[in-house]
Amino acid sequence: MLKRTNYLTKVYGLPNGWQLYTYERQANGYEAARRVLTTMTPEQVVGEAKKANIRGRGGAGFPMGVKWSFMRPHPTKPAYLVINADEGEPGTHKDRTLMEQNPHAIIEGCIIGCYAIGAHVAYIYVRDELHRSKERLWGAIREAKSKGYLGPRPFGKDHAVDVVVHTGAGAYICGEETALLNSLEGRRGEPRLKPPFPAQAGAFGCPTTVNNLETIAAVPTAFLIGCEEFSKLSAIHHLNDGGVRLYGVNGHVKKPGVFECAVGLTLRELIYDLGGGIKDDKKLFAVIPGGSSTPVLRAGDIVSAPDEKSLLHPWHGRSVLDVPLGVDTFRNLGTMLGTCCTTVMAEGTDPVLAFHNLMQFYRHESCGQCTPCREGSAWLFRIAEKLVVGTCSMDELNQLHDIANNIMGNTICAFGEGTAMPALGFLKKFRKEFEAHVKGEQGANNIRSSSLAIEPLF
Ligand code: SF4
Repeated sequence: MLKRTNYLTKVYGLPNGWQLYTYERQANGYEAARRVLTTMTPEQVVGEAKKANIRGRGGAGFPMGVKWSFMRPHPTKPAYLVINADEGEPGTHKDRTLMEQNPHAIIEGCIIGCYAIGAHVAYIYVRDELHRSKERLWGAIREAKSKGYLGPRPFGKDHAVDVVVHTGAGAYICGEETALLNSLEGRRGEPRLKPPFPAQAGAFGCPTTVNNLETIAAVPTAFLIGCEEFSKLSAIHHLNDGGVRLYGVNGHVKKPGVFECAVGLTLRELIYDLGGGIKDDKKLFAVIPGGSSTPVLRAGDIVSAPDEKSLLHPWHGRSVLDVPLGVDTFRNLGTMLGTCCTTVMAEGTDPVLAFHNLMQFYRHESCGQCTPCREGSAWLFRIAEKLVVGTCSMDELNQLHDIANNIMGNTICAFGEGTAMPALGFLKKFRKEFEAHVKGEQGANNIRSSSLAIEPLF
């Protein structure tokens, strides 16, 4: 259900909207942190945060309040809050808008988060290319320090809080939380084996909570209006995901962009009502719902959920475009919600070229620690290249399934699945188109857009 909101985006587009003056005047900025630090205990903050029912906005969808509750005070080690602002998922561009246009919501969220989990330092890990984001964050930190909101006694409370912006080097894998922690410590950005989980041994071997940037930016709003009230903003309550989200749409739409809405928006609303419909008034061909790791959906896919107990039963027989975007609904559809940033493909798009583009990306970004991921991603890409140039045999096409299935579940981190799942998704949805490439019959499906297709390779 389309319900536009403007909690996170209230100061977007205002003159100097990223500055403290505007944040305080227009968004009641830092009032939530003031209330939390002066009237609540950390345990109460965590309890309230659970009521907000914010599912992590970075892709995994883990409930934020529950994650905070995993933190236990350590007798000798400090605790840390780490904010994942690496945002490297192709097609995803929402966190950047928050850093550029509403950085104080992030700093305020960090103050509340640090207090809740017993941390005194929050690191915001930003990818290197986002120069304006880093500049705006550092500017917001300076302003918050000058008012005493950050420092030894924020709002008079004896709980020092500092926020530090840390620059990554632009590797996709550093969006994986343990690779990010390694990178933060000055090591190679390679994922760690879990357990131990970050709440036990995270940054510098200390208890750490890693939150996505949008997740932490939503915290001041939740505490300002009341966490239960925030949860109820969700347009569809049984989605088990509270509040509002930033939704992105890109690819072959007339008005690509980022929009804030109550949780429960559908793909149809995102593409047609917010994205303005398909470019050149073409028909919709396919959608990658939430970043490139999420399996693709075809425009004509219909929900099949005859069992009344199924979460998807209310949409049985309807288009997948009409299912509310939710962590659980999209998992039940055989794909994932991911980051809620959707890539749209118009009719005429060649899915083999899109597949090739994705496999090129994953082969390049694999950190190389695990053989199935390192070799498997290279094999997938090699066969994708053969498909594009027309030298792929039917045997090799069939091998794509085996290779992808052998990556699944056999790697240190979720990047392996993040490579295999979109590969299997494309193979399942576009088998006919892939076979046409093998037979040299690909016909008119040949759009090579800047966002989906490849630069000439050969
Ligand atoms: Fe590295 Fe891939 Fe293994 Fe993750 S799955 S640790 S990216 S090789």
